[in-house]
Amino acid sequence: MNGTNTSAAAGKHPLFVVSNREPYLHSRRQDGTITCAPTTGGVAVALDALMRERGGTWIAHGAGDADREVVDASDRVRVPPDAPTYTLRRIWLSPEEERRYYGGFSNEGLWPVCHIAHVRPVFRSEDWAEYRAVNARFAEAIDGELTDPAAPVFIQDYHLALVAGELRRRRPNVRTALFWHIPWPHPDRLRICPWRREIMTGLLANDLLAFQLERDRRNFLLGVRDELPAQVDRGIVRMHGRETHVVSAPIGIDFDRIVEVASDPALINETERLRRELRINDPAIDVIGVGVDRLDYTKGIPERLEAVDRLLTNRPELRGRLVFVQVGVPSRSKLESYASIESEIDQKVADINTRHGNGPEDGPIRYRKAALKIRRLVALYRMADFCVVSSLHDGMNLVAKEFIAARDDEDGVLVLSEMTGAAHELGEALIINPYDIDGFSRAIDRAIEMPVEERRARMRALRRVVAGHDVFLWASDILQGLENLTAALRPVRGAAVKHSFTDPLARPSGDARR
Ligand code: UDP
Repeated sequence: MNGTNTSAAAGKHPLFVVSNREPYLHSRRQDGTITCAPTTGGVAVALDALMRERGGTWIAHGAGDADREVVDASDRVRVPPDAPTYTLRRIWLSPEEERRYYGGFSNEGLWPVCHIAHVRPVFRSEDWAEYRAVNARFAEAIDGELTDPAAPVFIQDYHLALVAGELRRRRPNVRTALFWHIPWPHPDRLRICPWRREIMTGLLANDLLAFQLERDRRNFLLGVRDELPAQVDRGIVRMHGRETHVVSAPIGIDFDRIVEVASDPALINETERLRRELRINDPAIDVIGVGVDRLDYTKGIPERLEAVDRLLTNRPELRGRLVFVQVGVPSRSKLESYASIESEIDQKVADINTRHGNGPEDGPIRYRKAALKIRRLVALYRMADFCVVSSLHDGMNLVAKEFIAARDDEDGVLVLSEMTGAAHELGEALIINPYDIDGFSRAIDRAIEMPVEERRARMRALRRVVAGHDVFLWASDILQGLENLTAALRPVRGAAVKHSFTDPLARPSGDARR
C-alpha cells in the first residue's frame, strides 16, 4: 500500500469510519452471480487504504442491489473481498428515507446552501425529520459496534451532521472528528436554513471539526458567534460545558497510487483503447483538452463548453485540430436541478458540435456520460494537453490534483477555477473565473500555446504541492489531532505532536494556503 505508514494508520485502537456512501457495493450480475466492486472516488479509495492497514469498522448506507444478501445477521460483511481486513456495517434505508434524508435535506437543502451556484435551496420539514431520524440510526449503529470505547470515530460530510450529538447522548465520552468536505457558507447565506442552529450544535458535539479551507472555518465560527450561546476563543468553541476544536485541513489525494497507475507499462493499451473509443486517433487532431466531473450544477460545465465554443469561434483554424473530452458522471438524477443541468449540457454539446463540426455527435466535444475507472481516468489525464476544472464553487476538487499526479511526464496544463478549494494551493495552474467566458477562453488559448519549458516548470511546482500533502497525511493530521485533544484531557500521556492543519492552538490563525 502506498504512503499509509502514518501515525494515523499505526494507531493502537481500531478506527471507525462513518459515511453515507459505502466503500464496496455488492450487485447481482445477469448470470445470477454476485460481484463486489469498490466505489469510485478519491476519498473512498484512500479511507479504504487506511482501514485496510489499521482495521476497524466502516458504517455506511448499503446501496448495492445485492448488499443484503452477503451480510451476516448483524448486517456486517468483511472487506475488501480479496483479503478481508475490516468490517463494513451496512445501514438500510427505505426509499422514503433515502428520498428525504439524502435527496431532500442533504442534496436539495444543505448542498445548494453551501455552494454558491444559484440553485435555490429547498428546506422541507418532512426532509429534516427524516434527516434527523437517519442520523440517529447511524449513531445507534455506531453505538452497537463500538466495542473499544477509546476507538476514534471519523465521520464524513454533510449527510451526517447530527451523528456525533446523537452518539454522545448514548456515550458521553466517545471521541469523534467530523470532516466537512464541502464549503461552509457565510452566516448571511446560512440563515436560509431554518435548522442551522441544530446543524451547528450537532457539529459541535464532535471533539474535532475540520473544514477544507481557512475561509470555511472562519465562516463556521462567525455563524456560531452569531447564532449560538457559545464562547469562541480563537478556534475553540465552548458550549454546554464542552469544547470543540475547529480546524482547517485541506484534503489531498493518494498521489503514489496514481503515480503507480501512470507508470504501469500496460497503461499504453488502455490509452490506445480510449483513443479509439473517443475517435481521437486521427493525426489531424493535435490538441486535446479534458474535463472530468460529476454532472453537477456546481461544476461549471456549461461555462466550460462556452469557453471552448468561443475559442473555436475566435480561432477557426483550430476546428478539426482541437478535441475536448468531457466525462460526465450522472449524479442525483432524480432531482430536478440535476436533470435540468444534464439536459442543458446535452443541448450545448450538440449545438457546439453542429456549429464547429459535422453534427450533434461528431464535432470537437467528445462527451462520455459514464463513470471511468481510475486506470482509464489516468490514461485520459495523460493524453491531455490541458485539463479544465471550472467549478462555480467547489470544496476542494480532487480531479485537479489527480490530473497533476498523473503527469509524471511533467507536461500538461491545468486550467483551474478560482472558486475551488484546490486553487488555494495550486497557484501555478492557469487560474480562471468561470463567469468570465472571454478570460476563460483566453486561458485555454494560453494553455494550448504555452511553451514547453513553462509547462514543465509549472507542472513541477504543482506536483511538489500535491505530493507533499497527500490524503494519508490529511487523515493522519485529523486523527492525530483528535488523539492529541483527548491525550491533553488525560492526566499524563501524550506529548504534543506536530500536525499541519490550521489549529489555532498550535499557531496564530492564518490562511491555510499551501
Ligand atoms: N471519478 C471517477 N470516475 C469518473 C469521474 C470521477 O472515479 O469517471 C472520481 C475522481 O477520480 C475523483 C472523484 O470522482 O476522485 C471526484 O471528486 P471531486 O472532488 O473532483 O468532485 P466531487 O464529485 O467529489 O464533487
